[in-house]
Amino acid sequence: MLLGPPGSGKGTLAELLEERLAIAHVSTGELFRREVERGTGLGRRVSRYVLEGQLVPDDVVVAVMTRELQRRSLTRGVVLDGFPRTVGQAQGLDRLLMRRKQPLDGALYLTCRPSVLVARLSGRRVCSRCGANYHVQTMPSTRQGFCDRCGGRLVIRKDDRVATIKQRLVIDRAKARPLVAYYRRKGLLHRLDGNGSIDKVFQQALRLFGRQGWLEDDRVKNS
Ligand code: AMP
Repeated sequence: MLLGPPGSGKGTLAELLEERLAIAHVSTGELFRREVERGTGLGRRVSRYVLEGQLVPDDVVVAVMTRELQRRSLTRGVVLDGFPRTVGQAQGLDRLLMRRKQPLDGALYLTCRPSVLVARLSGRRVCSRCGANYHVQTMPSTRQGFCDRCGGRLVIRKDDRVATIKQRLVIDRAKARPLVAYYRRKGLLHRLDGNGSIDKVFQQALRLFGRQGWLEDDRVKNS
């Protein structure tokens, strides 16, 4: 599970872990944005929160993630990006994992300076088709304005406007502290320095995965 403020690199790290180590990831933000775009019942229910950078209520998030994780086999593991965001959601996840007898390996907490977060979020572009993340300066696509992976058009997320960014960071700060304490108490918290390049963050994650024995050795060596 990846914890950390918006812009700390959770989404990009989750994509790399999937690409290089074949560990699937589920991003609640991506999931909600897709539902909003499609105009589904769930999308209509959550759109106000998502567009304004507010947190979707815990009961909705836990119900959606329970359904999402129930339809997946978790034997190869899964990276959770952006869930849980509150202690209530963490407790909901605990109940679900207990029922499935699949304990959580760890919570990776990406720490990052506020100035870095704002710079990353304000330059972020996402693929409107597959959700892949880019940055105009640090991680541009090869063909400007289009996704390298699927050719979809790159857009600015509505909640990446400066005023909304600031609000999201304030909300996150309030919710993150108890959540981090929750996983520290359980002995599951691992801090990663999220200030550097994504490659540096990925290498830190890889070393942690190796130390914790979360991967077969060949996957770590080959990445
Ligand atoms: P993200 O892509 O993770 O930055 O999430 C985008 C938006 O989706 C957030 O600002 C929230 O409105 C909503 N969201 C995503 N994950 C959660 C969550 N675990 N709990 C509540 N709201 C969430």
